Amino acid sequence: MELVFATGNPHKVAEVQGILSALGSNLRIAGYQGPSPKETGVSFLENAAIKARAAFEATGVASFADDSGLCVDIMGGSPGIFSAIWSGTRDDATNRNLLLSQLEDIAPEHRQASFVCTIALVDASGLKSFTGVWPGSIATEARGEGGFGYDPVFIPADFELTAAEIPADLKNQISHRALALQQLAQYLT
Ligand code: IMP
Repeated sequence: MELVFATGNPHKVAEVQGILSALGSNLRIAGYQGPSPKETGVSFLENAAIKARAAFEATGVASFADDSGLCVDIMGGSPGIFSAIWSGTRDDATNRNLLLSQLEDIAPEHRQASFVCTIALVDASGLKSFTGVWPGSIATEARGEGGFGYDPVFIPADFELTAAEIPADLKNQISHRALALQQLAQYLT
């Protein structure tokens, strides 16, 4: 079965195909990069649905898109949908440093957070969604060279290493994106 994956990022197509293969899924995905629709939604689901709908309307093939971010409990779920541009720039290190300074006075036991990924699947029958949540906490300083975004400041639950210090193939088995893709793959088989 072939599905269209709406993303402007070619690396994400390879990452998602890799996660699906590791899950034993025989789903094949084709990347679609059309004109980027404005992400006017106020939730991960709304923004994922905007991207998936645009791809389905353009291609006529069942399409999915994801939207993800980091939600910090004591910050009421922020940065949430604003994760990519939290500091007013799209620079990962600047975004991480702002978050660390905002949490500077908060003790380790109050630094719980989760990565959240919602996948929207749109086809002729309508919209379906799948959400993966990866719980953990925010470190007091950035550690590790792997991953991207907030990985160096996110310590997954039951780990001492940050998400940037654990091997990429392990992250790809347990992350919010892997959990959401697992549900998508199960739904389609
Ligand atoms: P997007 O859904 O790929 O646009 O991701 C939104 C933003 O959330 C990214 O720019 C990152 O800042 C953050 N984010 C989402 N997933 C991850 C992850 O697996 N690791 C680190 N940061 C992430």
